[in-house]
Amino acid sequence: MTATYGLATGEYGALFALQNGKCAICGGTRKTNLDVDHCHKTGLIRGLLCARCNRQLIARGARDNPTILRNAADYLENPPCPRLLGERWYGGNNPR
Ligand SMILES: [Zn+2]
Repeated sequence: MTATYGLATGEYGALFALQNGKCAICGGTRKTNLDVDHCHKTGLIRGLLCARCNRQLIARGARDNPTILRNAADYLENPPCPRLLGERWYGGNNPR
């Protein structure tokens, strides 16, 4: 696989393996690749999420589920990508 957003070859796979192939928030698995989630303020890549958590977390995914909301808060405070790989920037550019 070539570079995925700001992740170099192999880094996506390492992150995927760290998360056991599961969404970092809901623990769900998907047949397709998980989305690369990043902070929209800083561009910092946080980790891999399923499409539902990445795009519709508050709108739909977690509305009635406090466990998922707690997982989401933990994920935002201590995201897996910087822990594993250091700072990676969405699109590959460090905005600083
Ligand atoms: Zn999810």
